Amino acid sequence: MCPAVPEPRGAIDLHAHSSVSDGTETPAELVAAGVAAGLGVLAITDHDSTAGWVPAFEAAEGTGLTVLPGMELSTQLDGASVHLLAYLIDPAHPGLLAETEKIRAERLHRAEAMVQRIAVDYALDWEDVLAQAQPGATLGRPHIADALVARGHVTDRSAAFQSILHWRGGYYRPHAAPKPLEGVELIVAAGGVPVLAHPGGRGPDRLVDERRTRALVDAGLAGVEVGHRDNPPAAREKWAAIAQRYDLIVTGSSDYHGRGKPNLLAENTTTPEAYARIVELGTGSSPFAG
Ligand code: AMP
Ligand code: ZN
Ligand code: FE
Ligand code: FE
Repeated sequence: MCPAVPEPRGAIDLHAHSSVSDGTETPAELVAAGVAAGLGVLAITDHDSTAGWVPAFEAAEGTGLTVLPGMELSTQLDGASVHLLAYLIDPAHPGLLAETEKIRAERLHRAEAMVQRIAVDYALDWEDVLAQAQPGATLGRPHIADALVARGHVTDRSAAFQSILHWRGGYYRPHAAPKPLEGVELIVAAGGVPVLAHPGGRGPDRLVDERRTRALVDAGLAGVEVGHRDNPPAAREKWAAIAQRYDLIVTGSSDYHGRGKPNLLAENTTTPEAYARIVELGTGSSPFAG
């Protein structure tokens, strides 16, 4: 462990969402949940937004929890989502700011288009969806799910994702986003550390093949999130081997979204050594030691 990065005193969980995107807890509540779970480090990684960083830092003050500032950048390959965790980026980097603003607008249009299609078969208005999101939040299917729950069409978020909101459910629409390679380049340009999120997910596992992986690594991809509940055992093995081949940082995280998703804080964790490598690489911002 590098002496410049103090060893955290609790578990390290590097992927969590707040109500700034599609988590159900405010950044302050997310931090409180991290403290209650006994974490040493918690990364706040809302989709395409860094708006939760400052409230998370404020809430962490005096708690002993370190908040690693991050974001989950949406990218797109052949209509499938590929998510990149972006740690320690400069939140004011003009290129990244412009791109995330664009992605949030695309997500909003896509949610409206999905609601229009769903409304043909189910009683649902756009206002129902807006009522489920904090003003300015990065919109996603979870907000539509919450609106479907409020209308009584499904019992919870997971039921909505398994039926109406499933990508094969008949109402799904992808949203426009940069390609993974562009995403990695942007994160690196913003001083950040790009990590391929849940690589065993439908998009990355099928589409990020050997050639594309090499291109991402050449562009600065620094790690892969091997420890994630969406990675089946075979995918974990495959991506752990890829990580070893390219000397990538291996992370493990919960992808906690508060209530509505079963993922629990610290259900997967990252080693202090892997965390130290991320901190050493990132130059756009710094961890906040609360
Ligand atoms: P979207 O990005 O709009 O396509 O929506 C996908 C997001 O929904 C991912 O970030 C998932 O983690 C999140 N999500 C939240 N709750 C659930 C759930 N119960 N089942 C599946 N995905 C969920
Ligand atoms: Zn999410
Ligand atoms: Fe994701
Ligand atoms: Fe996530």
